[in-house]
Amino acid sequence: MLVGQPGHRLGDQAEIEEQPEGRREREQDQRDVPLSISTLSSDALAAVQAGQLVGRQQLQLDAALRVGLERHEFLPFYQPLIDLKSGALVGFEALMRWHHPTKGMISPAVFIPIAEESGLIVHASRWSLRETVYMMNRLKFEHDLPEPWFCSINFTGLDLAAEDFADHVAETLQGTGIHPSRIKLEITERMLIDDPEGAINTLKKCRETGLTVALDDFGTGYSSLSYLHRFPIDTMKIDRSFVLEMTTSHASLTLVKAIIALAKGLGMSVVAEGVEKQEESDLLLQNGCEMIQGYLYAKPMSEDALVEWLKKNAQPSV
Ligand code: C2E
Ligand code: CA
Ligand code: CA
Repeated sequence: MLVGQPGHRLGDQAEIEEQPEGRREREQDQRDVPLSISTLSSDALAAVQAGQLVGRQQLQLDAALRVGLERHEFLPFYQPLIDLKSGALVGFEALMRWHHPTKGMISPAVFIPIAEESGLIVHASRWSLRETVYMMNRLKFEHDLPEPWFCSINFTGLDLAAEDFADHVAETLQGTGIHPSRIKLEITERMLIDDPEGAINTLKKCRETGLTVALDDFGTGYSSLSYLHRFPIDTMKIDRSFVLEMTTSHASLTLVKAIIALAKGLGMSVVAEGVEKQEESDLLLQNGCEMIQGYLYAKPMSEDALVEWLKKNAQPSV
């Protein structure tokens, strides 16, 4: 089967294509499975939305997550990243969505930590990688958008700790026509603190295969600056909280400038996240930030919406 067939949802381990009969069977199953997020009380659901689950509620959500995975309720969204100077699209970030049939969209900020605790995240991250690679191939072969955009994928400490992590990524890309340099692994400072030596080794192995690495939410963790130059990192992402306050707080603007200088001094590229206003974009450009990601340009969107967006907004490179 050709890589890049449509219709693949989280839960398909080996197959790419989803058969209509399979879907009907799953809909039947859905009525038979008693425990899902539908069974959570409204209090529990409010806690889910607020990210304040405890004890039994957490177990319920974990069980609901597993059911959601089996029922293919997860889907990837993609948010464009823009080069500030030229305004050109340079890449995307893959962001997972849980679309529950009755409860609607549930934020990844809520379900990712639960998936991390239960270990389900490893399965979910591998799915996200596969899905992204298929999407990139569909842009090229189905939609005739053969641009060398990159795509960032979020990984957790648990993903990186798997012994076969680097091999798995390489194997997933093998034979797809997607060069590893077009995949950026997004990791957070926390992962660098938990097991620095392990993370350095794994990331080095990944980089040897051509993959690139971005340090996400920079400035919100507790990493020691002395570690920074030891880690093989290509891109630093300035956390949204700094961007949000940059135009009103002198301290935040000072921090943003310092992060840009630090990244550049270490030979990394810089992305500012959560850019919503033109004023923020202008200030970032003035201060040498290279790329931005935010609602000012585009929100995360489904693959279909992305294709429409690209046809309207992405200029072919010359
Ligand atoms: P993140 O990796 O920092 O992703 C950026 C978040 O900021 C996304 O939230 C995105 O929708 C949001 N965002 C981007 N631009 C703007 C903006 O201009 N304004 C505002 N208000 N928000 C903006 P999202 O999609 O809800 O994801 C939340 C977090 O969940 C992510 O934060 C990431 O830590 C985690 N996550 C999402 N998908 C995955 C995944 O596939 N794997 C893993 N491990 N984590 C994921
Ligand atoms: Ca991210
Ligand atoms: Ca981030």
